[in-house]
Order: sequence, then structure tokens, then C-alpha cells
Amino acid sequence: MSSIERIAGIKGKVVVITGASSGIGEATARLLGQQGARLLLGARRVDRLEALVSTIRTQGGTADYQTIDVTQREQVEALIGHAQQTYGRVDVIINNAGIMPLSALDQLKVDEWNRTIDVNIKGVLHGIAAGLPIMKEQQSGQFINISSIVGHAVFPMGTVYSATKAAVLAISEGLRQEVGRDIRVTVVTPGVVTSDLTSTISDAQLKQSVDEFRAVGISAEAIARAILFAIEQPEDVDVSEIIVRPTASTSSAV
Ligand code: NDP
Repeated sequence: MSSIERIAGIKGKVVVITGASSGIGEATARLLGQQGARLLLGARRVDRLEALVSTIRTQGGTADYQTIDVTQREQVEALIGHAQQTYGRVDVIINNAGIMPLSALDQLKVDEWNRTIDVNIKGVLHGIAAGLPIMKEQQSGQFINISSIVGHAVFPMGTVYSATKAAVLAISEGLRQEVGRDIRVTVVTPGVVTSDLTSTISDAQLKQSVDEFRAVGISAEAIARAILFAIEQPEDVDVSEIIVRPTASTSSAV
């Protein structure tokens, strides 16, 4: 296959997913694997990645994994380079890895603020830095960046997290305007989704109340289906943003 040949639909597309070891990333890997995408999965928990790849292969899918920390540029570069070496091209990069250690600003959890910025903003930028030269060379490709509904509406205790997700919206739109001629850019903006996302909230009482508030959450598969929709559109169609939230949500912040 020539490097500039474009693949329509999803079958055979080479898709790299960060944060594939649980939640939205894992559900997306399963769904895209069933649909015939060729997958390269990244996250830190090797046991979970190994089990997921094994399941996808057992079901007839094509998948491999690499342990990475998205805060480390060279590790993200190695992941995406591995996809290119293994499959010969990179069609879709899903910058999904994220953390949400919520806290009130006056608690001064500055290390958590920095970590949130490093994973949620720099992690996305590292994916773009690694993938952009490859996609420009191919003259095709698609970035799918996972923001959040709270990127549009800040809420108390979520100021830094919201700021990082607003940054993902801005980065995605800027990227689309800069490279949109050949490369598609999609930002997926979920509301509450049932996952391990609250595991990084260090205040036990706050975690409990957030978990109660998040009881309306929809399944990660709902977001996976939205991602599949964005990928399988024809090459001349850029699904720029998709907001997917629980029907039960009535506030602007979820
Ligand atoms: P999970 O906690 O289930 O998944 C987060 C994933 O990110 C895990 O696979 C984790 O893997 C990975 N990850 C975290 N830190 C790093 C890191 N430094 N390097 C590499 N991978 C990392 O939560 P979700 O599936 O819900 O979250 C996925 C994305 O969706 C996030 O960006 C989140 O902000 C966003 N989102 C989620 C919503 C929700 O309600 N659940 C709503 C809106 C947006 P590992 O620990 O193995 O590294």
C-alpha cells in the first residue's frame, strides 16, 4: 500500500489509543478491534493492556500494546513509531489518557495541578508532536482528542481539570485550522461516563460525593460508538466535535 493511499471506513485503519487500559480507551479498543481496525494500545498498567490485547486477538482482531507514560514525550513517540513500523502507517491517534484529581483551589494541591496539566494537556500535545510529521507525510490521518463537557463549563473543585479540558478544545480547534486540509481533527466531549476516573481524587469525602453525583453516568461504550462514527465518515467529512452526555443530565456541567 502506498503511503499516501487513504483507507475509507474503519477496516484496516491503524489506530493508536493512549489510556487504553480502562474506561473509554478500553471500550474504544474493543469496539474498533471488532470492526477490523489495527490497534496499538498505550498506558502504564501492563497487565491490563496484555489482557485486553489477548481478548481482541482471540476475537480475531489485530492489536499490540506498549507501556507508556504520556507525560514523557519520547515514550509517546516510541508508541506511535511502533505503530508505523508494525503496520506501515498511522491513520488515527486517539489522545485519551487523562486524570481528574479534583480539589478546591485553596487546598493548594499544586503537585496534583501540575500532574493534571502534564497528563491532560502535555500528553495530548505529545501525541500530536509524534503523529503530525507522519500524517503530513502520508497526507492523511485523524487526531481524536478527548476533552470533557467541563471544558465548556467550569465547576467548583474542578477548576484545574476544567482548564485542562478547555485547553484540549483550544488545541484541537487550532490544530484543525492549521492542518485541516489533509488531516481530520475531532474532539470528543463526554459528560459523565462510568469509569475509574475519580480514582485520583485524594480527598476521600470529596471522592464519595463526586461518585454519588456521577451515578447517572453512561457506559464507556457510548463514547466508543461516537469515536467510531467520527472515524468511519468519508475522508472529506470532519466531525469536529461530538458532545455525548447522559440523557439524565440536566446541568451544564455534566
Ligand atoms: P479511566 O480512569 O478509566 O481511564 C484513564 C486512562 O488514562 C487509563 O487507561 C490510564 O491508564 C490512562 N492514564 C492515566 N495517566 C496516564 C499516563 N500518565 N500515561 C498514560 N496513560 C495514563 O477514565 P476514563 O476512561 O473516564 O477517562 C478517559 C478520558 O476521558 C480522560 O481524558 C478523561 O478526562 C475523559 N473524560 C471522562 C469522563 C468521565 O466521566 N469518565 C467525562 C469526560 C471526559 P494507566 O493508569 O494504566 O496508565
